[in-house]
Amino acid sequence: MSADKRTTMATFRFITNRVVKSPEGKEGRIKMLVRVGSDMAEGEYKCPACGDNGKINQPFKKPIMVKCTACSFLMRLARLKDEMKKKKKQ
Ligand SMILES: [Zn+2]
Repeated sequence: MSADKRTTMATFRFITNRVVKSPEGKEGRIKMLVRVGSDMAEGEYKCPACGDNGKINQPFKKPIMVKCTACSFLMRLARLKDEMKKKKKQ
């Protein structure tokens, strides 16, 4: 949560911070952003299956899928419509 404090919404055309669940119901998280003028998604994840923390750096496309580099679990974000409305309170 701390690394993003210096960023501002205006710098990014897409930003998300979502809980993802494993089939067993364990929680992980995907934090991802795309800079204005870039097609690359950057961010980090916590894998719900194995608990690994990893970096995201991949082409931005929908639906968003991030593969855990530790256990190959595929984290998937289904609907993104509401994400843009979220505002961080600092
Ligand atoms: Zn994993």
